[in-house]
Formats: sequence, C-alpha cells, structure tokens
Amino acid sequence: MTIVIENAHVVTVSGDEHPGGHLVVDGDRITAVGPGPAPAAEGAERIDGTGCLATPGLINTHHHLYQWASQGLATDGTLFEWLTTLYEPWSKMDAEVVAGAATAGLGWLAKSGCTTASDHHYLFPSGRGDLLAAEIDAARELGVRFHPCRGSMDRGRSDGGLPPDEVVEDIDTILAETEAAIDRYHDPSPGSMLRVAVAPCSPFTVTRDLLVRSAELARAKGVRLHTHLAETLDEEEHTRGRFGMTPAEYLDSIGWLGPDVWLAHCVHLHDSDIERLAETRTGTAHCPSSNARLGAGTARVSHLLRAARDRRARRGRVGVGRARPARRGTAAGDLPAARPVRADGADRAAGADGGDPRRRPLPRPRRRARRPRNRQARGRGAVAGGRLPRGGRRPGRRPGVRPGPAAGAAARRRPHGRRRRRPRHRPAGRGGRRGADAHRRLMRLAEGVL
Ligand SMILES: [Zn+2]
Repeated sequence: MTIVIENAHVVTVSGDEHPGGHLVVDGDRITAVGPGPAPAAEGAERIDGTGCLATPGLINTHHHLYQWASQGLATDGTLFEWLTTLYEPWSKMDAEVVAGAATAGLGWLAKSGCTTASDHHYLFPSGRGDLLAAEIDAARELGVRFHPCRGSMDRGRSDGGLPPDEVVEDIDTILAETEAAIDRYHDPSPGSMLRVAVAPCSPFTVTRDLLVRSAELARAKGVRLHTHLAETLDEEEHTRGRFGMTPAEYLDSIGWLGPDVWLAHCVHLHDSDIERLAETRTGTAHCPSSNARLGAGTARVSHLLRAARDRRARRGRVGVGRARPARRGTAAGDLPAARPVRADGADRAAGADGGDPRRRPLPRPRRRARRPRNRQARGRGAVAGGRLPRGGRRPGRRPGVRPGPAAGAAARRRPHGRRRRRPRHRPAGRGGRRGADAHRRLMRLAEGVL
C-alpha cells in the first residue's frame, strides 16, 4: 500500500527541511521525500499534512516497561533504596501485568513519535508466565519496531548482591532461556521488526561468570549485548570494593566493550573510561528523565560525543535512551541544560561539570538554531511541537506525522472557556486503561509485601 503525505513541514535525517514538502511511503519503506507536491502515485492514500511536522521516528534505547505498573512507589529513594523497595512487589508480577504495562508504555512512546523501542526486562519470577512473550505480543499488536533485551540477575543477597534471592535465576536457566528467546524471536533481516539482545542487569546484580558467558552466547548468536553501567556513585564504590576497578574498567576486563555493546546511563565515567568507550565504539544510552528523577548526576553526553568524533567512531553509536516518551525539545542533539535536583535538594553529582576532578572542562557548545521558513509553521510552532493552525483540519494518524496538541482543542474546552488539560502522566485510551489495570493488578498481587 502506498501512502502520500503532502504539505507537511518535512525534516529529514540529514537535517534538510522542506516546508510544505512531501513523503511517499510504499509498504514499510519511504520511497520519496522532498519539497513541494509528491510525484504522481496512482491509487495511493493521500494525507494532507498541513500544519504538521513530519520527522524521522525517534528511537528509544533503554526502558523497563514493566515498571509502568509500579509507578508512585519509593518516589524519593536513591537508586539502591528504590530497587530494594521494589524488588519484592516486582517479584509478584505476572504475564498479565507485563502485557498491560508494555501496552501502555509502548503506546505512549508511539504517540510521542517513537517508532523503535527497546526494553530491558531482567526480572523473571518463576511460575508467573512467559513475561518476555507478553511484551513482545504487546509490541506486535501496536506495530512498534521492538528490541527486547532478555535481562537477568544471578547474584542475590546471599552472594553479596542487591536483589533478594527469590528474584534471581541460576546461570544455566538464564543462558538456556536467553538462547531459546533468540532462537524463537530474533530476526536479523534488514527492516526487522524484532531483534533480541542479551542483557544481564548490572555489575552489582550479576556474577562475573554470567557476564562472560552472556557475551559468549551473544557473539555466537550474532546479537547485541546490553547492560547498565555507572549510573550512581554507589555502583562505583561497589565495583571498586569488589574488583579494584571502575565499572567501565571492569566491563573492559571481561570483553564487554565493543561495537556490539550498548550501555545504559554511563553517568559516572572517568575521562579514561570515555576514551575507552570511544576507542571500542561502545554505544551509550542516555536516559535524561531517569537522571533527573535520581538526582545522582547526568550523563556526560557532550564528552562522549566529542570523544567519538575524535576517534572517528560516530556512525550513530551514541543514542539517546528514554525512560519516558519523547517530549518537545528533548530529542537527540537538543539535550536539556537543566541539572538534576533531588527532592531534598541534594545534588550527589558534585556539579554538572565543576568540582569533580574526573572531569575536564568542556568548551561551551555552539548553538545552531533552525527556524521554519514558512510563515504558518513559524506562527504556530510547527517545528517545536507540530501544532495545527487554528481551525486546521486534523489529518489521519500515520507513522511520522504527529498531530499537535492544538488539534481538537475546541472540543476539549470547558463551557466557561478554559481549556481542560489532560494530566501529563495519565494517557487516555485503551493503552492507558490497560496500564492502569496492570498497576491495580500488581498492587493486588503484591499486597502482602507492600
Ligand atoms: Zn535501566
């Protein structure tokens, strides 16, 4: 089926902009993009994109979809406090909880312009159904390109790890289940809608043996590796105490850096760690919402990018991961300048760039602002948020076209003229309802441990 989108403000991956441009989509491929009207395409469905912004789909590089169901708990803890509070309720989740949470989370991402999502699922309590299948089915139902990461934990409290023993698996089970998931789901073909990655949870929840054998499995199967790294100073202290190395040095020592690896967070990196990541072309998933929530530092994205450029290792290896859907002004290349602040006012990162001896000062970045050239887009903020002009017609919903928040505004006005605002974290619709059901179900299942 061919779809033609015309009259939209089209922005391409290369950075070109076409006010009043066109897109032609044939099946799952964009076959034409450019200024002005589209070339003739007989029998095509035509969509008027007037007042809309058409951009490349956003890519999510790190997520934990099941956590949708436990929002609102331990809201002011440090990472380790938050994890130790939630491991027990999470141990009660079942496939129904995961299916509802994944539907809500992926649906919200899709509505905010994300077309490819990953998910790091590392908790598989026994006897609670096929949790990985539940989220894969949710992604298929929504039509989102999906990269589930089969996560794992094998180092419980009795071995000096953080999670309780009930939520960890033994290493043979982990490797067998991970291999089975790859064999069953992984599709390496170009344009694949589903690729599986191997993803032990973090250096403080898994054994060295699991990391080593996971890397062997992933490389034998030709899939990618993913884990958390250096999210908080607690982790650095933990790793230094155990191995005498920084978290990045530890991963390097066991062959866990390379172009087939991407690491979530990477907040507390030393300059030498950054050099090594660039040298090995290891990818980084930056999670600004998560950094802001924890107030435990923010990733050194500018330093990572500069190191990657210096090593001629760009090729899109530094991604921007999100624990929340994409919002205006926080896409790649437009990172927020705000420093994370904890609710109690403590900033455990010792400053964004100052006061930390591990960090070299970074030259002030030059801002490059692009403005829409057509008057209509400029007047209604089309580049920033895809708003429709007043009275504009709402186009059909298709991937790559994002109707703006002004669409249907009149219908949402209250009788006395004030616009009703939807709560920011309560998406409406079937996905939102399934997410709420998942939350209620998990709270019921976890009643005894909350
Ligand atoms: Zn994470």
